[in-house]
Amino acid sequence: MPNKESSEVKFNYLSEQFADLKIMRYQVPGFDSLSLKQKELVYYLSQAAIAGRDILFDQNYKYNLAVRRTLENILINFEGDRDCEDFRNLIVYTKRVWFSNGIHHHYSKDKFYPEISRDYFEKLIRETKTGFPMREGQDLDGFIAEIAPVIFDPKIAPKAVSQESGKDLLLGSACNFYEGVSEKEAGDFYHNLKNDAIKNGTDTLISFGLNSKLVNKNGRIHEEVYKIGGLYSAAIERVVSWLEKAAGVAENEHQKKVIETLIRYYKTGDLNVWDEYNVLWVKDLDSHIDFVNGFIENYGDPLGMKATWESLVNFKDKIATKRAETISANAQWFEDNSPVDPKFRKKEVRGVSAKVITAAQLGGDCYPATPIGINLPNADWIRKEHGSKSVTIENITYAYDQASIGNGMLEEFASSAGEIELAKKYGSLASNLHTDLHECLGHGSGQLLEGIRGDELKNYGSPLEEARADLFALYYMGDPKLMALGLIDHEGVFIAEYNSYIRNGLITQLTRIEPGKTIEQAHMRCRQLIAGWAYQLGKHENIIEVVLRNEKTYVTINNHQALRAIFGTMLAEIQRIKSEGDYEAGRNLVEKYGVQVDQELHHQILDRFSKLNVAPYGGFINPVFVPVMTNGKITDIKVEYPDDYSGQMIDYSRNHSFLPTYN
Ligand code: ZN
Repeated sequence: MPNKESSEVKFNYLSEQFADLKIMRYQVPGFDSLSLKQKELVYYLSQAAIAGRDILFDQNYKYNLAVRRTLENILINFEGDRDCEDFRNLIVYTKRVWFSNGIHHHYSKDKFYPEISRDYFEKLIRETKTGFPMREGQDLDGFIAEIAPVIFDPKIAPKAVSQESGKDLLLGSACNFYEGVSEKEAGDFYHNLKNDAIKNGTDTLISFGLNSKLVNKNGRIHEEVYKIGGLYSAAIERVVSWLEKAAGVAENEHQKKVIETLIRYYKTGDLNVWDEYNVLWVKDLDSHIDFVNGFIENYGDPLGMKATWESLVNFKDKIATKRAETISANAQWFEDNSPVDPKFRKKEVRGVSAKVITAAQLGGDCYPATPIGINLPNADWIRKEHGSKSVTIENITYAYDQASIGNGMLEEFASSAGEIELAKKYGSLASNLHTDLHECLGHGSGQLLEGIRGDELKNYGSPLEEARADLFALYYMGDPKLMALGLIDHEGVFIAEYNSYIRNGLITQLTRIEPGKTIEQAHMRCRQLIAGWAYQLGKHENIIEVVLRNEKTYVTINNHQALRAIFGTMLAEIQRIKSEGDYEAGRNLVEKYGVQVDQELHHQILDRFSKLNVAPYGGFINPVFVPVMTNGKITDIKVEYPDDYSGQMIDYSRNHSFLPTYN
């Protein structure tokens, strides 16, 4: 894909590696050919994307801003020995905190620890002396006594999000969406809120609890809403001030209205306005530039109700969008021919808009680790009545590919030379197509039975929803229709996709799990559920074979067409579970296939993986947009690609940090 390269000099995609993380860079091809007004729009939206960063830190855990500011103060102001191993370990820990937007791993949600002693940490604070985020009236001893256990004591906040079945999910989670509230109390609170809405005849479809913290104050439970004048006001005010500038250079009237409605939502915190905004946003299809900005995804809340703040600024990649448009234009055909029970199919698939985008800026929960595809809005009723917008972020997947070339993963874990060859030849197109199908069709397909709200599956809802979208994609990857539509010209594409999906679900994704741990993350649960269940269903015919060679485990697919039929069966069952809100069946599937890890296999995989020295997780440094001023007016905007991860983080903390340490 030489057209992705915007400069003739070789672009360095991989910036640095530490712990289990790699830091990459991405280019923004096409930015230079935007009009000045469009460049300004991207610039203002990008500033808004950075302005909310502190919010996510605080949402993830109430001490995260305190820890981050403590570490940054040491990093900048400590004047002692900075070359020793201890200090270098402190730097690695700081980089990890930046990456995870807090002290819990961004993916596993487990607390991670610095490889230094508590004594050394205290010494650094005492020698640095000033500049720490102390509470009013607190002295250095009091400050150390409060902050050190947060970092070092394994009993304090061990998990940001607990999914441990049978325990109180809220009291076991460190995330900052609930204060002194049990799972039952939160459940009752929102149950009552919904009942009140029914009684009063107000909107019962809004996303209750999405933008607030639930607090128990002296036995009374109430919501603290994220808005101007409410919780996180100082950061939201900055986001809004940049959005106001963006509204002034909107591409058209509709987009202007979209931005203004978002501003109104941030000012009121009113979830009705949030829905109004989403309906407008989903209909904004003509603008070249687009954005995500708000409290959107609920993976950070064990109850799947409260959303973390995120932003993504982007514009359309016209050539690649043609591919997604072909899929979307045939959405009804895919729906009508899906292997699910006809009563769970959508009679009319509406507004499945699909496009491939170029990311220009990542913020909040999209930074530095970012999704590669997005399908929004999340509210079921809006998706049903107005459709959804679905995007694949091609410059990001391209950067991933470029950064991982030659890292040895494929050679170590693929089961044959033929498999490696297919992956090299078709892997990139296969995974882009999978993402398109997952986002454009998968999430938007199917319908709920009358009276089912969509939240019946509770904490199992996320992995099951991902499994539904993945199965939809997998099933159709092997359909001759894709060839008829000109999307692929060789069956090697779908074979490569099946190989890599099953290999990932059964083997390679385990490289992301720590020894002894189970799987908690929704997408990972989804992938193991699909691969493990498919293995089980095809066992008597040996469709997926697990082979042991030289004490190394490999998986081979013996019959790709038969596997496709199994995917169809699984899709039908998961759609039934969602459509009927069958919590028991959903729970059984996830718990049986998606959670447990075979210890012996895991040990072997980690052993092989460690020899490759590859970081299993990645994130990105943002490009920087620099306005060119002439006589006080913006006359052009240049894009720069910094290669200094720590520099960017420090810059954000210095110049784009607006919240108090404790909120
Ligand atoms: Zn998805």
